[in-house]
Amino acid sequence: MPDAQQHKPDSQSTGLCADCLHSRRIESARGSVFILCNLSFTDARFLKYPRLPILSCEGYSPKEADKLR
Ligand code: SF4
Repeated sequence: MPDAQQHKPDSQSTGLCADCLHSRRIESARGSVFILCNLSFTDARFLKYPRLPILSCEGYSPKEADKLR
């Protein structure tokens, strides 16, 4: 099972990805939830499926900051 796979992701188990602008929540047909990092498509430093929880990340960009623009 990939580390990014969770059944009920929350900010505590997911870490920074939970409210990061670059994260995408993927839900499988069986109800498992994955966090996909969109930065992985353009920057090799980031894993497609980050090892959770992410406690520190150079690419982290809070969704709230985007709303304020
Ligand atoms: S940039 Fe970092 S915090 Fe944001 S989704 Fe990717 S791994 Fe998670």
